[in-house]
Amino acid sequence: MKIPLVDLKSQYESLKPDIDSAIQSILDETAFIGGPRLSKFEQEFASLLGAQVCIGCGNGTDSLYIILKMLGVGPGDEVITVGNSWISTSEIISQTGAVPVFVDVEPNYYTLDPALVEARITPKTRAVIPVHLYGQACRIDAIQKVCDRHSLFLIEDCAQAHLAEFQGHRVGLFGQAGSFSFYPGKNLGAYGDAGCIVTNDQELGKKCRMYANHGALVKHEHQIEGINSRLDTLQAAILSVKLPHLEEWTEARIRNAAIYRKFLEGVSEIVLPAVRPETKHVFHLFVIQAERRDDLADHLSSLGVQTGLHYPTPLPFLPCYSRLNHSPEDFPVIHSLSKRILSLPMFPELTQDQLQFVANGIKEFYSREGR
Ligand SMILES: *Cc1c(COP(=O)(O)O)cnc(C)c1O
Repeated sequence: MKIPLVDLKSQYESLKPDIDSAIQSILDETAFIGGPRLSKFEQEFASLLGAQVCIGCGNGTDSLYIILKMLGVGPGDEVITVGNSWISTSEIISQTGAVPVFVDVEPNYYTLDPALVEARITPKTRAVIPVHLYGQACRIDAIQKVCDRHSLFLIEDCAQAHLAEFQGHRVGLFGQAGSFSFYPGKNLGAYGDAGCIVTNDQELGKKCRMYANHGALVKHEHQIEGINSRLDTLQAAILSVKLPHLEEWTEARIRNAAIYRKFLEGVSEIVLPAVRPETKHVFHLFVIQAERRDDLADHLSSLGVQTGLHYPTPLPFLPCYSRLNHSPEDFPVIHSLSKRILSLPMFPELTQDQLQFVANGIKEFYSREGR
């Protein structure tokens, strides 16, 4: 049996007529930038989250960058973020001219540890960017408190956390703005690069929209110099077809996680993902900790099961941050996790048989090793 980490094909097949006709109508209309279909998706996504403003962007990296830039963060500033994330979260800090300041994660939930934030705040700190990693909300209430106490901006990176909840509230609006990615493999994925910003701050929303469109809200009226990072109309139309299915796909991910849990309970060599109380984990990824991780991954691969590492090298230890001179002792939790984490196949369409096959492969590996 071949089981990929993510299967985009079966989802496309389930929606083929609707997707194809949405694409065809954009081609017929030959309206590729802006227009009512883009506004329609922005409104739909905003109302899903209860946001006043949603601004489509070219991808979920630009959306983070645009927020930070429009909050006025730049050279001489520091921005605190988490050491375990995709590089977007920290590279956009450097792009503004500010310095990324990394913080370790909570050992159980793998998200930014709020207890460590305060110690890293200096007079130069302007903002905190937590990540709702793997689909699980971080301790956003505690991070919010620290930000309030020190008058720091709070920007949520929700790229992996569409419809994730903290205390009954969907993530994205706990701070000044939230950023989402619609990269094809994300929980809501376009057929190319796409992302968006959500905010309840109309003024900030206006600035972000302007900046993402060459500094103009009206063509040729450039109030500021901006960038070109708009959400393609074609992608918006595809996302509008997919959006009504997001809740059912999210429930399927949660169900699949529960099935994995049932099958893998009692395997003492692995640690299953912990779900933080009072949150809804939307399982963008199903990440276990495993003894002899690399050998287990090889074994699963020999069975046709693809796995992943999120992430093989934590951000502070990447060559591009050698200038920050970090050592493993600076981030002991991330450092030790990076040797043990393993992402198992996770997507809504996984079948019970596939889940069982992966789980059996893991059990077989450890029982063979044990003999
Ligand atoms: C995917 C991702 C991004 C960036 O999204 P793109 O749309 O690929 O630019 C940012 N942050 C995190 C945590 C991500 O997983």
